[in-house]
Amino acid sequence: MGEFSISTSKREELVDITDEVSGLVKESGVKEGVCYVYCPHTTGAITINENADPSVKTDIIRKLRELIPENDNYEHSEGNSDAHLKSSLVGNCAAVFIENGGLKLGTWQGIMFCEFDGPRERKVLVKIIGG
Ligand code: ZN
Repeated sequence: MGEFSISTSKREELVDITDEVSGLVKESGVKEGVCYVYCPHTTGAITINENADPSVKTDIIRKLRELIPENDNYEHSEGNSDAHLKSSLVGNCAAVFIENGGLKLGTWQGIMFCEFDGPRERKVLVKIIGG
């Protein structure tokens, strides 16, 4: 299994991690298989979406903030309930096929780490299966 760390710089942010994941796939030497990308944090998530136009990331954050406000009489006492809810809604794992030794993503797709309670030092776990 591979892993890498990222430093987020805002409370809420989508960070493109496609290059880091691609690097681990190349290092693995796997030509055909599956790459799992996993977020081991309760206030972060993983998603795949457009990385060409940065406004897509901004829209995702803005709409999640509207749907799940920061303060809403939550029971969790840490003050970051909204971040936990966003993490569960988006999900903490993505799977991408590997073909010809590279990630088989759509033209406009990138893999994003979603920060919902930053800034923090975050870890991303990557499991590559195949031959
Ligand atoms: Zn919490």
